[in-house]
Amino acid sequence: MRELTIYRELANRIQARLNCINWVRKDDQENAVYRAGQHEKCIESLKDLLPSGSGIDSGISIDLNNSTGERIIIDSSFHAMNDSGYYDRWIDFSVTITPSLIHGISLKISGRFGKYQDIREYLFDVFDDSLRETVKEYYCQNCEEIYYRKRQEELHSCPVCGNKLQ
Ligand SMILES: [Zn+2]
Repeated sequence: MRELTIYRELANRIQARLNCINWVRKDDQENAVYRAGQHEKCIESLKDLLPSGSGIDSGISIDLNNSTGERIIIDSSFHAMNDSGYYDRWIDFSVTITPSLIHGISLKISGRFGKYQDIREYLFDVFDDSLRETVKEYYCQNCEEIYYRKRQEELHSCPVCGNKLQ
């Protein structure tokens, strides 16, 4: 088991996937495609650890066409509530993550927030906290699968084959 920071592991996996795609040698194509697929699975699992609920849509996605190890773009939407407590409209937003020498990462939240500027600040805080969280990475040698769990959760055996995990 390894302990990792979500944003750094996301960046590593996104860059590793790109390397597999870009550096593919003709005689090794199958292997590169397989490894790119493995990285994509990891990115999907990490995505499931990012914020959803409390107004944030569960249909969050990582824009793999425009993301690199040094710039990650996450797309989601937020269901805004008006002053009377009724749901108003969905606000599509993007979170752009870039490196920062001082803070480790720098976040930008973009979208048409209009009168809901406080939601932009809320999303900044929620994503900033979440991306900096520590996760545990487990590897099953039997299935060659990787699993991520939040720090407070334990995974003793592989959910697929039951193999003991370390
Ligand atoms: Zn397994």
